[in-house]
Amino acid sequence: RAKADGKGIFRFFEASMDAAMQARRSLETDLRLALARGEFVLHYQPIVDLRSGQVNACEALLRWRHPERGMVSPLDFIGLAEEIGLIVPIGEWVLRQACADAAAWPAPVRVAVNVSPAQFRGQSLVAAVYGALTTSGLPAARLELEITEAVMLENTEATLATLTRLKDMGARIAMDDFGTGYSSLSYLRTFPFDKIKIDGSFIRNLPGEADALAIVRAISGLGESLGMTTTAEGVETADQLDSLKAEGCREVQGYLFSRPIPNENVSEALAAIGIRSAA
Ligand code: C2E
Ligand code: MG
Ligand code: MG
Ligand code: MG
Repeated sequence: RAKADGKGIFRFFEASMDAAMQARRSLETDLRLALARGEFVLHYQPIVDLRSGQVNACEALLRWRHPERGMVSPLDFIGLAEEIGLIVPIGEWVLRQACADAAAWPAPVRVAVNVSPAQFRGQSLVAAVYGALTTSGLPAARLELEITEAVMLENTEATLATLTRLKDMGARIAMDDFGTGYSSLSYLRTFPFDKIKIDGSFIRNLPGEADALAIVRAISGLGESLGMTTTAEGVETADQLDSLKAEGCREVQGYLFSRPIPNENVSEALAAIGIRSAA
C-alpha cells in the first residue's frame, strides 16, 4: 500500500516535470524564432535629473510580443535566452535598435541599454557596440551600458578589459540593481562606473523604513564621493521622490514620471517632462 502510494507520487512528479519541461521546450522553440519573426520590441523609460527635473536618458526595456501569449516580460524569457545562448543575438538586436531609436531623439538625451553576462562571455560585445553606434550615427557619449554584478562575478580580468574598451570608445557604464545579491564595494573600486543604480527594492519602502533610508543615503554619499551619479529605480510616489532629493540622490526613474513606453511616444514624454536644450 505504502509502496503503491510512493509510485503514485513518483508518477505525479514525473507527469508535472514532464509538463514543465514541455512548457520550457515550447517557449524555447518560440524564442528561437522570435528574432527572425520580428516579435521583439523596445519600450523606453525616462530617467529624470533630480536637480533640473529634466530627462537625462531613457532606458531601453525589452518586450516580446508573442503571437499567443501577448506581451511577455523580460523576467520571463531573459534567463532562458541566457541559458541557450540566444541572449547574444538578441542583445545585439537591442543595441542596434536602441541606438537607431535614440539617434532621432533630441541631442542631450542618452539611451541606457541592459547588457547580460553572456554578452561579456563572448568576444563580440565591443564590436556589437561599435557597429550599433556607427550604423546609427549615435555619438558614443549618448550610450549608457547597464551591467549587473553577475557580469563582474565571472572572469574579472576579461570583464575589466572589455569595460575599459567600451569606456575608451566613449560609452558610459552603469552598475544596475546595486544593493542586491553580492554587490561588493570592491567592484566600485575595480570597475570604471559612471553611475550606480540603486535597486527598486530599497526605494519601495521609502521614506518610512529607516534602514532603507539609511542605505539610500549611504549609497548616494558614496556615489558623490566617487564621482558617480546615483540613480533610484522604481520611484512611484511623491514621498519617495522627496526623500530621495533630501538624501542627495541625483537621478530618478519610475512610474511616478513614466512607465516604459513605445518609441513613438518618447518625444511626447520628453516634451511633457522636459529636456535640457541642446544649445
Ligand atoms: P532593470 O534593468 O533593473 O529595469 C528596471 C525594471 O523596473 C523594469 O522592469 C521596469 O519596467 C521596472 N520599473 C520601472 N519603474 C518602475 C516602478 O516605478 N515600479 C515598479 N514596480 N517597477 C518599475 P522590466 O521592464 O520588466 O525589466 C526587468 C529586467 O529585465 C530589467 O531590470 C533587466 O534586468 C532585464 N532586461 C530588460 N530589458 C533587457 C535587455 O534588453 N537586455 C537584457 N540583458 N536584460 C533586459
Ligand atoms: Mg537596467
Ligand atoms: Mg535596474
Ligand atoms: Mg532592478
